Amino acid sequence: MPLTERSLPARVLAALAFVAAAALAQSMLNVWIGGPAAFPLFTLAIMAAAIFAGPRAAAIAALPALLLGIYFSGFREWGAVAFVEAGLFLLAAAGTILLARAAHNVRGHLRECEENAARRAAEADVLAEELGLLIDGAEGHAIYLLDPQGRVTIWNTGAERLMGWCEEDVIGVEASAFYPRDAVAAGKPADDLAHAARDGRFDTEDWRVRKDGSEFLADVSITALRHPDGSLRGFAKVVSDITGRRASEEALRSQESHLRSILSTVPDAMVVIDDQGLILSFSAAAEQLFGFSEAELLGANVSRLMPSPDRERHDNYIRRYLETGEKRIIGIGRVVFAQRKDGSTFPMELSIGEATGEAHPLFTGFIRDLTERQKTEAQLESLQSELVHVARVSAMGTMASTLAHELNQPLTAVANYVEAIRDMLARPDPDDLPMIRDALDDTAKEALRAGHIVRRLRDFVARGEVEKTIEKLPLLINEAAVLGLMGAREKGIEPHFDLDPYASPVLVDKIQIQQVLINLIRNACEAMAASPVRKLSVTSRPDARGFVRVIVADTGPGVDARIAEQLFTAFTSTKSEGMGLGLSICRTIVEAHGGRIWMEPRAGGGTEFHFTLVSAKAEETDDG
Ligand code: ADP
Repeated sequence: MPLTERSLPARVLAALAFVAAAALAQSMLNVWIGGPAAFPLFTLAIMAAAIFAGPRAAAIAALPALLLGIYFSGFREWGAVAFVEAGLFLLAAAGTILLARAAHNVRGHLRECEENAARRAAEADVLAEELGLLIDGAEGHAIYLLDPQGRVTIWNTGAERLMGWCEEDVIGVEASAFYPRDAVAAGKPADDLAHAARDGRFDTEDWRVRKDGSEFLADVSITALRHPDGSLRGFAKVVSDITGRRASEEALRSQESHLRSILSTVPDAMVVIDDQGLILSFSAAAEQLFGFSEAELLGANVSRLMPSPDRERHDNYIRRYLETGEKRIIGIGRVVFAQRKDGSTFPMELSIGEATGEAHPLFTGFIRDLTERQKTEAQLESLQSELVHVARVSAMGTMASTLAHELNQPLTAVANYVEAIRDMLARPDPDDLPMIRDALDDTAKEALRAGHIVRRLRDFVARGEVEKTIEKLPLLINEAAVLGLMGAREKGIEPHFDLDPYASPVLVDKIQIQQVLINLIRNACEAMAASPVRKLSVTSRPDARGFVRVIVADTGPGVDARIAEQLFTAFTSTKSEGMGLGLSICRTIVEAHGGRIWMEPRAGGGTEFHFTLVSAKAEETDDG
């Protein structure tokens, strides 16, 4: 370690050593040549101390040097000369120390500068290395620098990977080597550089050539590099191969247009929504069906296409599905109401498919307008009910004649016996008594036979074939309501559904129970035709153990008091064209299902029809 970097005591010791050496030399000189001037040697010692031990050690050593100088001056006569010498010594020592101090400061500063420079150089090295790694690692990008004349000066590994040339091949080569021949002929390489030099940067998509001669579509970015004085230093070029990307974009575009062409031609209306219920696409058939254009609906909530209560509940439907995964309509299909732009509603058959992409699920709804179909169905239905009516009348005719025929025999026999007994009793004879008893026995037998025939007939009439399955009640009610409410909205009737999901499933013959619902809904609609308020509500809820209850309520005038008692008896009607069979059929069906049906006046006016059905919950749990 240099002396100047040691601790202060060590340096003071060294300085004192210089002074001691001077004293030794002075005493020897005194012996040999008899006391020459003492201070020059001590001045030299302080100079040496200032240079080698530093200004502070030299300052400390100056005092003993002065004293020794005075001491050695004593060998000669002590006079003015000696004073001057001592003064000069002090001046020289002070000057030397100050100079050494200045030199010391300069040296310290220099060292600091050197250290800073070394640190910066090391940092720059690390940065350059990292940058080099980063540039070389840029997968799929060729990054290289050109001089102002367009010759390659720096070539990264990515460029080698992408273009095939290695660094030695291309350093100093003109960048036009990477352009196809026709582009070079058209002067493109120079044009591109001129463009970048003028605007600072130039981006383009263009064809480039690899070492093997193959061409690729490149995304090219050229940046002009300038010296601080503004003069051109060169160009930085970043080139990436976008052939694959462009091909998949093209494929996507063609797929999209394919899809569009399908969308615009499918006869069914199609609506695609995202997981928020927002419309992403709306087919041409859907535009026609709903009266909205696609532009009006893109990004709008699909609930705009539904009447209440689905309109308010649709967001919840989606949320519930996304949370529970429970499919209530997806992949199943349903008959529901839809609402056109003009506010009118129509029944539709809705099937929904789900596409689970990487990000969010999409739902595609296929819609079939049922208005036409339902018109036909309604016609068919009325035709059918006519037929049923005719069949019923003729069946009753047949039944009546069979009945007459079958009953004729026992009744004639009874009449004969009774007449014979009457004749016998006209002339009472105790001998006739056994015969009279026999005749009465036979009469009773014949009467019982008649009763039996009647009972058999009743059993025959009551025996309904019911094929029961487990059905979801809300679904069953919705479907029946769509049919029962045909044309009801146009008459100002507002349907309201309150279906408890816990009042499901039920064990029923679906078609028959739907028949009951359609009957009750139609009766309710007919009853409200002249009412100021026309609200129809269908409610379902769990009932007494093992049963669920369905209530169809209206705000009509209520049931006519004259028929309230026999409401469910056949041929009870207040309508000029009514058959009076609807409610009696309803009762037969509900009772054949093990339930009950009855009427209650509605609080606030109107009528409520209640019926119960057997819940299938217990069965389901047993299965599970
Ligand atoms: P129809 O409808 O052919 O008359 P129903 O058996 O279905 O036969 O109905 C019997 C009668 O009950 C009806 O004529 C009507 O007077 C009465 N009725 C049925 N439903 C209602 C109702 N919701 N409000 C008032 N009266 C009703």
